[in-house]
Amino acid sequence: MFSSFCAFSLFILMVFWLCFGVFSSNMYFWVMRSRMDDLGYEILLMGNRSDFAEKAESMALNEQSALLVYRIENGEFIQTAFAKHDASSVIHELDGLMLAELYTRASEQDGKCRVRFLRNEQGSIIEQTGVVMPASSRLVTAMVKESGNGGKTMVILDTAVTMPQSFVRVTRNLMLILSLLLFGVSAIISFIVAKRVSYPIEWLNERAKDLTHATEAAWQGHRSFREIEELMETLERAAEELSRVDRMQKELIANISHDLRTPLTMIIGYAEVMRDIEGENNPENMQVIIDESRRLASLVNDLLEISRIQADASPLLQEHFSLSDDVEQTVIRYQHLKESAGYRFHFEGCAPSDVLADRKKVLRVVCNLLNNAINYAGEDREIIVRCLAAGTGIRVEVEDHGMGIPESEIEHIWQRYYKVKQTHRRATVGSGLGLSIVREILDAHEARYGVISRIGEGSVFWFELPLHIVTKLPEECAEAVASFDSAAF
Ligand code: ADP
Repeated sequence: MFSSFCAFSLFILMVFWLCFGVFSSNMYFWVMRSRMDDLGYEILLMGNRSDFAEKAESMALNEQSALLVYRIENGEFIQTAFAKHDASSVIHELDGLMLAELYTRASEQDGKCRVRFLRNEQGSIIEQTGVVMPASSRLVTAMVKESGNGGKTMVILDTAVTMPQSFVRVTRNLMLILSLLLFGVSAIISFIVAKRVSYPIEWLNERAKDLTHATEAAWQGHRSFREIEELMETLERAAEELSRVDRMQKELIANISHDLRTPLTMIIGYAEVMRDIEGENNPENMQVIIDESRRLASLVNDLLEISRIQADASPLLQEHFSLSDDVEQTVIRYQHLKESAGYRFHFEGCAPSDVLADRKKVLRVVCNLLNNAINYAGEDREIIVRCLAAGTGIRVEVEDHGMGIPESEIEHIWQRYYKVKQTHRRATVGSGLGLSIVREILDAHEARYGVISRIGEGSVFWFELPLHIVTKLPEECAEAVASFDSAAF
């Protein structure tokens, strides 16, 4: 940043010097040209004054110009004013022919002509043409105007076309000092600005290298520009999120290894007992092995599902189906599976309940909510499932009369790997992924969902999907549409 600042100020100074070197002489010439025009007019306008000669001469000398004024009467040139600024002026050496030439040219060109003269090596005066302007070149401006008594007045001004060398030297020195000063100041300013910008970025970069281990205190200090502060806050939030995920993943690994080890130990233990001890190979022990294997399978399934969702590998397959009918079928299956364990399921349906959604995934949501209702059911082991009409949608509710969820925990239960601590017991062991799968699926459907829960009374988990009614066209209309389609395409 510092070097680009320096390069920029060097570039500006270069442009500055280039302009001075290349354009200053032209600029000086243009300024002098228009100044001589103005001066000539001013002198011509004073034609009748008694102190004409004196005034005209002092005006010319003020402008570092030589002056000659003639009154022309009957073709005769009578000199009325004269001023010689320095030895290099040429007009005083112009012969009669040249004077007549100037007079003719000025008269033909609207009363004004400009000629550049040069003194050659032999010392005689010649007219100079071309773009190049040597330092010895003189600009001669001749102006002619009618004077009152029938005659004419001609003013001839003679000035240098290039800047005086002493002036050039002084200006050059001044510019050199100014350039050095400017470069020094801009280098200092750019150094300070570059430091102010780059230091916090370097500082941020250092912390960003190890985001997960950056503590809250590590982000304090080094506030500078608003954009950098915002970046700092974003990184701070990212660091918090990363360390939270990091913590949760560690907990998950601990939980999962515990959850995997427990059923495996049970399976191995029961299998060995059944192999080694006579009479232990009975259906009850076999059932334990089957239950524990199922628990393992469901845990592995949950893990696979969540990793698929995370990788976004299973896009939604929208289809049209009756939500109420499918939920009822699911509840009936659960009833068959769990009635031996004393669970009672009630279903309250509604019609119409047509939705356009990913059927498998929506039923996965219902199953996860039912599994939780079973795992956290109350003493009555009663689970109520409802499909209700809610505005323009269908609302599915799964209610249990279990222990409920503390209010402070409700916002966290949808997070991955989250488990309410006190509810963790062997009978209800879970991966902590069930509700996060529910959340991912419902978010993908842009559905509304939530939970109403009271400690000791139970919980109602709910979600809503928009109704999707397909109106059937009368047969003749359907035929018309079909024939239109085939004719057009
Ligand atoms: P888990 O596999 O542990 O059940 P979930 O993501 O399904 O994981 O649920 C997260 C946590 O929410 C559970 O650990 C439990 O504490 C709480 N929870 C979920 N459903 C219920 C419910 N019906 N009643 C009480 N607590 C529940």
